[in-house]
Amino acid sequence: MSSTAYASDAQRWAAVQQRDSGADGVFYYSVRSTGVYCRPSCAARPALRRNVAFHASREEAEQAGFRPCLRCKPDQPPLAERRAAAVAQACRLIDAAEQAPDLDALAAAVGMSRFHFHRIFKAQTGITPKAYAAARRGARVRAELAQGGSVTDAVYAAGYNSSGRFYAGAAGLLGMSPRAFRAGGSGAAIRFAIGACDLGAILVAATERGICAILLGDDPDALARDLQDRFPRAELLGAEADFEQTVARVVALVEAPEIGLDLPLDVRGTAFQQRVWQALREIPAGRTVSYAELAALVGAPKGARAVAGACAANALAVAIPCHRVVRNDGSLSGYRWGVERKQALLAREAGK
Ligand SMILES: [Zn+2]
Repeated sequence: MSSTAYASDAQRWAAVQQRDSGADGVFYYSVRSTGVYCRPSCAARPALRRNVAFHASREEAEQAGFRPCLRCKPDQPPLAERRAAAVAQACRLIDAAEQAPDLDALAAAVGMSRFHFHRIFKAQTGITPKAYAAARRGARVRAELAQGGSVTDAVYAAGYNSSGRFYAGAAGLLGMSPRAFRAGGSGAAIRFAIGACDLGAILVAATERGICAILLGDDPDALARDLQDRFPRAELLGAEADFEQTVARVVALVEAPEIGLDLPLDVRGTAFQQRVWQALREIPAGRTVSYAELAALVGAPKGARAVAGACAANALAVAIPCHRVVRNDGSLSGYRWGVERKQALLAREAGK
């Protein structure tokens, strides 16, 4: 913003009347009747023009005998700057901590109420502090893996607690040598690995083209059988070490869906299913639609039942967010990977 934009008193008075935050720092105004001086954007009740004088700096206003307004705090950095600094400080605390500090601790550290801090953090970053911590943890796992460490080293280095919920019980599966399950004929080669996320066991599978399955459940063996049923003619290969990075990225998506997934998907289905799945991917985190609404979105307003079938056939949990579809009355209805997981995903995306 050029300071010549507020060169005349008339321009300055117009900026004050509009509470123009672009003028903040360019000039200050004092109010003779109250003895205070303000930033142009101050939300206080407008003063009468005849009581207002303009000052090039806050020193000038103070030398003229005015006190800083308690509302817009013209003697402190601008509000946006203070908020950004508080959020940056909270991010640094999360980055540095082995176990992410809870909301109360973060709010106290930056001198805000818990509610206010949560709102400011989300407004500034687009995500909740909890989602930020989960994303940072996922990023640290990926960084550790990129340096060539083992999955186990990486997840512990990234601060997963020693109860080992990450990959718990699946270490043997992850460490297994590549093993082919063949079910009739030759087909595409599908690499897969099974790990653990905060929703239980997770299977991630990929073809050359991209991720073709993300399955959630309680029993790792059942997930492997499910994969085999979905791709009966494919050659299923237990994952090699470099595939573990893909798993870490998918786990980060599941634990913080608003972060998104920057990996290609290999989506296989009928033309109708593909349309439904594409429409699902356009529903943002934090929103839900009904089966009827989704049917209308794909141009089949009477096809709610077929749409429900396409949702149930989805092989890419969370990446194709079929958990964002609820009954017409808003109740949860079923979920291929368990209604309690659907509930957990929706609560997380609602920032609860
Ligand atoms: Zn003020």
